[in-house]
Amino acid sequence: MMLLIKMPMISLKTLFEDNLTQLRQNIERGFPRTKKRQKISNTVSISNIRYTAYPMQHAVQVEASARGSTGNYEPIILFTDVEFQEADTPNVITFKAINGEEYHVSPVSRRMNNVEMSCDCMDYQWRFASQNYQKDTQFGQPPPPYQRKTPLPPAGRPYANPMEVSGMCKHMVRFADQLQQVGLLIP
Ligand SMILES: [Zn+2]
Repeated sequence: MMLLIKMPMISLKTLFEDNLTQLRQNIERGFPRTKKRQKISNTVSISNIRYTAYPMQHAVQVEASARGSTGNYEPIILFTDVEFQEADTPNVITFKAINGEEYHVSPVSRRMNNVEMSCDCMDYQWRFASQNYQKDTQFGQPPPPYQRKTPLPPAGRPYANPMEVSGMCKHMVRFADQLQQVGLLIP
């Protein structure tokens, strides 16, 4: 008699991608001497959140305008493996997408759902875009290849991301916290 074991529907690709919990832990691990990103994320204000729903692909793309001390940026997060629901019930989140339609989804988990992201700020582009791209966590175009303009440390400038962690900028930290406040994201 064959023993049937029910396996969770997680693809191999999924296992090697990053979720928001990992990315947040990575910035603690990769930059142990600064809590700047986490601390000053409170000074970033998020507005104009736009949702795009891809029910067939089980994905939701969320964009926002982020205003911080260094300028205005447009962070984007694409959540994958999102469960779309037929109706509005107490356990689902309803949002209006940019096409004018309402969609209902189960809350997205920081720990379980994989993400792809991008932010046009220097911190993200300079320190994380390449690393995130290698982890299938970069949204959209791959970043241009990095070319060091000074000699290797200690003679030249220190490495931008010495431990080569994937990660997130302060805009993304704040954006994720905001999405948790509105209920789309859960821990
Ligand atoms: Zn940013």
